[in-house]
Amino acid sequence: MAVKKALVCGAGGFIGGHLVRQLKSEGYWVRGVDIKEHEFAPTAADEFLLLDLRDPENCKAALSLEQGTFDEVYQLAADMGGMGFIHSAECEIMYNNTLINLHMINKAVQFGVPRYFFSSSVCVYRDMQPGEPEMSEDEAIPANPDNEYGWEKLYAERVALTYARRYGIKVRIARFQNCYGPEGTWTGGREKAPAAICRKVAEAKDGDTIEVWGDGSAVRSYTYITDMIKGIRMLVQSDLEGPVNIGCPQYVTVDELVRTVAEVAGKRVRIRYVDGPVGVHARNFSNARIYSLGWRAEVFLKEGISYTYPWIEAQVKAKQMLVGKA
Ligand code: NAD
Repeated sequence: MAVKKALVCGAGGFIGGHLVRQLKSEGYWVRGVDIKEHEFAPTAADEFLLLDLRDPENCKAALSLEQGTFDEVYQLAADMGGMGFIHSAECEIMYNNTLINLHMINKAVQFGVPRYFFSSSVCVYRDMQPGEPEMSEDEAIPANPDNEYGWEKLYAERVALTYARRYGIKVRIARFQNCYGPEGTWTGGREKAPAAICRKVAEAKDGDTIEVWGDGSAVRSYTYITDMIKGIRMLVQSDLEGPVNIGCPQYVTVDELVRTVAEVAGKRVRIRYVDGPVGVHARNFSNARIYSLGWRAEVFLKEGISYTYPWIEAQVKAKQMLVGKA
């Protein structure tokens, strides 16, 4: 049987880096593309191209093969980060991500790619109150995402689905819940809540106070990276059309997240609540569609943090040693 070929856009990032490793373990030939190298691990891809995918010529270069075409394209490239970044870089997010998403699907169709995956987000849903009935994928419309990142994702979903309808390319769309794990951004302003809290706790001494944005009551669910990668692969191989939520069904407050990290770290930490871009109060969405494929989250928060915290703690210590030497 011919070896399957996959293109992973955003392979220098957190989820893309893990996805490349998974595809390699399944026997794929993989090309990774990103505007930057992976910060934390050498790429597992057979070939890695540094390309800015806002430029259609670069999308062409990403898709070009000496022979044939890619069997699967995974579009994960995005200018993105946690709430701090999402609220401070609204124009960059709208501009950069729209360009990447428009050009990639357009070129993928021109190259005759049969299967195209797009990484959307549960940021497409409106602000919800904890305990509100779960929303299905269709209920994202009429839409009122809380931030521009969510609006762009909604638009890019629609673009990809339009190309699917018109040209027959099989489009698979996942709406990711917050994803965390080793090799994710943990500092610099783009980090998301689990990584930021792990970093703050790793920097704190036993009994210290750490700052947390908001009042600690916002509710989230966090999906561990291995579960997310399994969900992506199951979705891409399936016949499920339209957006599909992928998230762990364990809902926790920000306070509970801090307590979990502190417990794993074996530290007592106090919290000082400060003003900051918290985002929505809650998002309760249904996983029924991804469950229909047999997917279930296997790694719940405490276990996931027990894998993530030691990795971030090691990064913090390595950085402190570097600063100490300078
Ligand atoms: P990430 O920032 O680690 O990875 C995104 C990658 O895209 C980065 O390596 C970045 O350099 C690359 N990129 C940005 N602009 C580019 C450009 N012009 N050309 C080429 N590459 C470019 O983020 P991630 O957490 O791995 O997220 C992957 C995808 O999943 C993104 O589309 C993101 O919006 C989506 N998503 C992630 C989460 C999450 O919790 N991590 C949640 C919802 C959706």
